[in-house]
Amino acid sequence: MSALPTTPFDHPQVTRPCPLCESLPRRTLYQRDGWNIVRCDKCSMVFLDGQMNYETQRDDHDWIDDYEKETARRTQKHPLVLALSKVVKKTRPETNQRLLAQTTRWKRFGKLIDFGCGDGSFLARAAQQFDVFGIELSPRLAERARQKIGAAKIHEGPLTEVANNEFPAGSFDVVTQFGYIEHEWQPFAGLAAAYRLLKHGGVTILKTPNFASWNRSVMGLDWCGFHIPAHCNYFTPATLAAMLSRAGLEPLPRPFADSLPTSDSLWIAARKPDYPCAFLETPLTGKEIKAAPTT
Ligand SMILES: [Zn+2]
Repeated sequence: MSALPTTPFDHPQVTRPCPLCESLPRRTLYQRDGWNIVRCDKCSMVFLDGQMNYETQRDDHDWIDDYEKETARRTQKHPLVLALSKVVKKTRPETNQRLLAQTTRWKRFGKLIDFGCGDGSFLARAAQQFDVFGIELSPRLAERARQKIGAAKIHEGPLTEVANNEFPAGSFDVVTQFGYIEHEWQPFAGLAAAYRLLKHGGVTILKTPNFASWNRSVMGLDWCGFHIPAHCNYFTPATLAAMLSRAGLEPLPRPFADSLPTSDSLWIAARKPDYPCAFLETPLTGKEIKAAPTT
């Protein structure tokens, strides 16, 4: 009897190439509910193996429901940690004010579009100084956003399709992505859509769970950044900067306070260069990607 063929994978059902470098060899870091969180051997990108299309994401994994389920699970398992987390949160500036402060660090006025705008509460705040638009996949959240911002400003549907089909290229000064990219099964396409929508010199600002945080190392699968399968990409500062660069966007210097591994959130901003980027007209396959190893 001959031996089974060897494979570079420790998970037999590899269906999703690395979203950063497209290679297949990877190692499983965590497993839960039939899903594997894996790390790419080549570039260290951490992501959820498997696939999910936009329809399933919209119909079976509405963020309102998935968020409530995960919070309930965590509250049951770690009630004290959750209680402490709520106390700490009260000492911080209000969430939308923090998001706006991160945005106005780079741009103070102009046209702004929010990827994955949720219920529109950030856009309602940003509308004080920007001409705002939003894209949202969840019909329930999009309806809430329409109530706040106005029907004409909220576009509903799969982000990459809406962004590429319903807005002209080079029409925005700012693209905000607060809690979007970890949900996007095609994160590179999401960043490429941001590149397309931005004017030259325009800026995108992102917030996503920080896989390099110390808290993730301590808490393991109970880390607040894990929402499985809602969060399908787990970025470190290095892998997110690498993907932004690959999309033609220049990562901007990160303030010291935002670069500490004590933070569960990864903040990063990137700029569309003033000069045209030739790479978008070249094939992506085979492009060399380098990222520092994660902790
Ligand atoms: Zn990779």
